[in-house]
Amino acid sequence: MTKYDYLIVGSGLYGSTFAYFAHKAGKNCLVIDKRPQVGGNVYCEKIEGINVHKYGAHIFHTSNKKVWDLVNSIVPFNRYTNSPIANWKGELYNLPFNMNTFYQMWGVRTPAEAKAKIDEQKAEAIAALNDREPANLEEQALCLVGKDIFHKLIKEYTEKQWGRPCSELPAFIIKRLPLRFTYDNNYFNDSYQGIPVGGYNKLIDRLLKGVDIRTSCDFFEGYASNWNETADNLVYTGPIDRFFNYKYGHLKYRTIHFDTEILDTPNYQGNAVVNYTDSETPYTRIIEHKHFETFGNTVYDNTKTVISKEFSEEWTLGKEEFYPVNDEENNQLYNKYKELTKSEPKVIFGGRLAEYKYYDMAPIIEKVMEVAKKEFSGNH
Ligand code: UDP
Repeated sequence: MTKYDYLIVGSGLYGSTFAYFAHKAGKNCLVIDKRPQVGGNVYCEKIEGINVHKYGAHIFHTSNKKVWDLVNSIVPFNRYTNSPIANWKGELYNLPFNMNTFYQMWGVRTPAEAKAKIDEQKAEAIAALNDREPANLEEQALCLVGKDIFHKLIKEYTEKQWGRPCSELPAFIIKRLPLRFTYDNNYFNDSYQGIPVGGYNKLIDRLLKGVDIRTSCDFFEGYASNWNETADNLVYTGPIDRFFNYKYGHLKYRTIHFDTEILDTPNYQGNAVVNYTDSETPYTRIIEHKHFETFGNTVYDNTKTVISKEFSEEWTLGKEEFYPVNDEENNQLYNKYKELTKSEPKVIFGGRLAEYKYYDMAPIIEKVMEVAKKEFSGNH
C-alpha cells in the first residue's frame, strides 16, 4: 500500500487548495471526504442546467492580487457582482447601505443629507453608551448606522441568522457590512470578485487534479486511530471538537437548511440574492442560482429557474456545521482545543471548522498559500 505524504481530511477549499500545492511540490496526497462528492460547501449540483449552490451561496471576492491570480490561473472567473436586495415586510432596499438605501429609507438625495440623517441617529446611540466602547453587535450597529437601518435591515435578519439577540452577539460580525455615500450597490469593497466560469466544481476538480481521492469516507470511521499508517502527515479540516472527541464538550455552530424548488418561470426575483430582513419571514434569504452565471436577458434562455430558501438553525449532532458561533464562551472553549493541537505536530488544522473561524473563501486560500509556503519551503 502506498504511504502518502499527506492524508487530507475534507475536500473543501482548504483541503483542495492544500492538495494542489502539495501535489505541485511533488508530494503524494490522499484526500478523503465523508460526502459522496468533493468540494465541501462550494459544491454545486446541476439542476435544470443551472449550477445550484447546494450548501449556500458562494461569491468569491478579494483584494489580494496573488489570491485572485492563483484562482484565475486555475479557472477563469465571470463578472458576477454581488448586489443583494433586502425585503423588509415587502419594502425593498438596496444593500449594502449606500445612497440608494438612504434614499429608499428617508428620501434623502445627496450624500450631505444622508450623512446628516445618519449622524443624528448615530449621535443618539453614542450618547447612550456614556463613553463606553460598543460591547456587542447591537451597540456597534447602532453606532455605525443608527436606529432606522438597524431596525429594518439588521436586527431581525441577524437574530434569525444567529438565533440570538443582537445584544449577545460579537460586534465584529457587523463590521462585514460596509456603509457608503455613493450610489453603488456592489456589496463588497474588494478589488476583485466573481464566480468560476462553469461553476465551483471546475475549480475544485482542477485543484484536485492528479491527487488521490476517496469520497463517502468518514475519517472517524476509518482512519482516526491509525491515520499514520496511511500517511506521514495529516491535514484536518473538520470540526476541531470532533477531532478531540469532544473532550471539553461541544462547540456551538449554526447550521442551515435549504428548501430548493424548481420553478416554471425564467426569472423569479431578478437577482441572485434577496435577504428577508423581517422576523415574520421564517427564512433569511432566497437565492436564485441562475443569476450567478447568466446576466441580462440571457436569463430567459432557460425557461426554468431554481431557487433556495435558506433557514438558519442551531446545530445539533448529526447536522452540518456551517457557521462557528464566535461568542466569548465558545471562543474560550475553542482556545482549549487549540492548546491540544500543540501536541499534534504532524497535524495541520485548517479551515472554518478546524480553526473555528468565520472565514470567507479568499482568506482560506490566502492562509493555505502561507501554510504551503512554510510546509514546502519554496517548492512552488
Ligand atoms: N446582515 C444584516 N442584514 C443583511 C445582511 C447581512 O444585518 O441584510 C448582517 C448579519 O449580522 C449577518 C452579517 O451581516 O450575520 C454577515 O452577512 P453576510 O450575508 O455578509 O454573510 P454570509 O452569511 O453570506 O457569510
